[in-house]
Amino acid sequence: KMEGVGTGREEKILVLVRLRPLNEKEISRDDVSDWECINDTTVLFRNTLQERSMFPTAYSFDRVFSGDATTRQVYDEGAKGIALSVVSGINSSIFAYGQTSSGKTYTMTGITEYTVADIYAYMQKHEERAFVLKFAAIEIYNEAIRDLLSTENIPLRVLDDPEKGTIIERLTEETLRDWSHLKQLLSICEAQRKVGETSLNETSSRSHQILRLTIESSANEFIGKDKSTKLTASVNFVDLAGSERAAQALSVGQRLKEGCHINRSLLTLSTVIRKLSKGKHGHVNYRDSKLTRILQPCLGGNARTAIICTLSPAREHVEQSKNTLLFASCAK
Ligand code: ADP
Ligand code: MG
Repeated sequence: KMEGVGTGREEKILVLVRLRPLNEKEISRDDVSDWECINDTTVLFRNTLQERSMFPTAYSFDRVFSGDATTRQVYDEGAKGIALSVVSGINSSIFAYGQTSSGKTYTMTGITEYTVADIYAYMQKHEERAFVLKFAAIEIYNEAIRDLLSTENIPLRVLDDPEKGTIIERLTEETLRDWSHLKQLLSICEAQRKVGETSLNETSSRSHQILRLTIESSANEFIGKDKSTKLTASVNFVDLAGSERAAQALSVGQRLKEGCHINRSLLTLSTVIRKLSKGKHGHVNYRDSKLTRILQPCLGGNARTAIICTLSPAREHVEQSKNTLLFASCAK
């Protein structure tokens, strides 16, 4: 058997675009939006400052959501199918990509909670199976991995385990008891993320956050008897560093070593996504960054992927929004 050869991707990457509404600050500055969602799949850029004869630019994706859409809609009509494939034993990853303040965290927080609620509902409906739901959370900053459920501030190592594949050494994994336990863990993560920001004198715009849910299930009557009925899969919710960092790193090239280093994960993710979206069978450079290495089992192959690209509608942010759509177009 030739591993990794000839096994093309069956699923393409689902690419969603979400515009947030103009915020109060933008409105008070008389900023306006040049973006218009003309249907469920197309967003139009029309620079109203320029002449009427200028053709608007149309961008099409699997689904676009206007500033009026709720996170519930983004979940139900977009990310849900991919997030819930985890209950069928299929790994998946859901990314939020966009500039700082475009709505990545806002979107991912809601989607994570809706997914857990649906997973609990599924577990209750399927009494013939026994489930264990586990939760882990990490932050990647400057290619160092931090456990967001641990107060020890030690960078974690990524190892290749002969049996389990790529693993993060000493990562805390909590077995979820119930909804309030999840809420408690999420608030620990948030606090830990803030601690990191303060000690590094940095904002979360430079770090990547991965929340991982793992479901193990087995048919009740076979527990402990037949391993073949056991399913294990993970879904990853990835709140990426601000995409302005990628643009910055690209523009300064090799001059700013630190800048490049900080964004290695974001840049490598872009090239990995581009390769996967083309259905290429050749070499994919997962090992070039921590983010892609950790997510490798949940990217490509049989795994399913959704990318939610978040946009600020403000004219002030037009260049960044166009960069984000360029990335989104490469992922299609
Ligand atoms: P990011 O994580 O990309 O830096 P945030 O998710 O923190 O951005 O969003 C920036 C601000 O905008 C937050 O105050 C957030 O509540 C608000 N916001 C983002 N998206 C929306 C939206 N779709 N509707 C309403 N408010 C939003
Ligand atoms: Mg954020």
